[in-house]
Amino acid sequence: MAEIAIKGVAKRFGGFTALHQVDLSIADQEFMVLLGASGCGKTTLLRIVAGLETPSHGEVWIGGRRVDNLPPRERGIAMVFQNYAVFPHLTVFENIAFGLRMKKLPQQEVEQRVNRTAELMHIEQLLKRYSGQLSGGQRQRVAVARALAMEPDVILMDEPLSNLDALLRLEMRAELKGVLAASKTTTIYVTHDQVEAMSLADRIAVMHQGRIVQAASPVEVYRNPAARFVGSFIGNPPMNFIPATKAANGSWSVAGLTLPGPKSDRQKIEFAIRPEDVDAGSEGLQATVRVIEPLGPHTLVTCDVEGGLFRAILESNASVQVGDHLRLAPKPDRIRWFDPETTNAL
Ligand code: ATP
Repeated sequence: MAEIAIKGVAKRFGGFTALHQVDLSIADQEFMVLLGASGCGKTTLLRIVAGLETPSHGEVWIGGRRVDNLPPRERGIAMVFQNYAVFPHLTVFENIAFGLRMKKLPQQEVEQRVNRTAELMHIEQLLKRYSGQLSGGQRQRVAVARALAMEPDVILMDEPLSNLDALLRLEMRAELKGVLAASKTTTIYVTHDQVEAMSLADRIAVMHQGRIVQAASPVEVYRNPAARFVGSFIGNPPMNFIPATKAANGSWSVAGLTLPGPKSDRQKIEFAIRPEDVDAGSEGLQATVRVIEPLGPHTLVTCDVEGGLFRAILESNASVQVGDHLRLAPKPDRIRWFDPETTNAL
């Protein structure tokens, strides 16, 4: 069992606070993705779990054991990094065997483990090649095989696919997902790529300015953002936000529509809807079309709504023209509301 508990972890670099009191529990065999923009603290948090960085405050537990005072090699973890640190002067076999030799495992076991993980990563035909002669994708597979060969309880990955071209990324993403699910390890995976996060994660921890804003399943994070930042960061294009003004009988006025909404003492809150959750019709938000982008399966229409930008994904055969005044009806069960001051969901 290798559940991970990050308890009240803070990290300061001089006067700068990179992490504020982060709490996160990761279940045994769970695939947790840390997602956020550059500089939000993802790598710092991963390095603290790895033991490459010391927290200024807080505790890290792995498998029921407190590890924040243990060196990396005693934490039962393996790591795969962005630049994957495969040794070019060693063969693929020796690269995968590297950690096993350090552990002084018997030759027979080394061979068994190398062969098994090489097969898993589809690189068994490359074992005798020097790693310096491999393509980026092949080197990436070697790096993952080397981590898996250690049979770790926990694998930590920091943007492991970022050096690959788009097509290979897609292929490796699917492969990684399959291999890691089969290997029964607990995984923490850092990325700033939301599609990668959505596709791989059991749960996504969305980070912003050194805090975890929401940790939930990909569907939950997408459908029910806990805070405005999550709705504006996840989704391409992201969620639309429109000011809402209190109207009679506890309802809210939003761009020409009166909608039932949450109870709030405030006179103004924010209405939010995803671009794909509106239908063009005779009733709805008042919108003026500014840009039309036919994207094949659908059409992306950028409009003015209440003086702000609003993006709607409409059917590809929608007959709209620049300058048209549209009515965009939001799907009632997809509407979300946010408090403009706390930015939390209402
Ligand atoms: P990226 O996706 O760009 O790698 P990240 O979310 O992983 O970003 P971190 O590398 O964790 O971000 O950095 C978080 C913040 O802490 C950044 O503002 C960074 O400049 C700062 N930081 C990280 N390491 C150090 C250090 N050794 N000394 C000073 N500041 C640091």
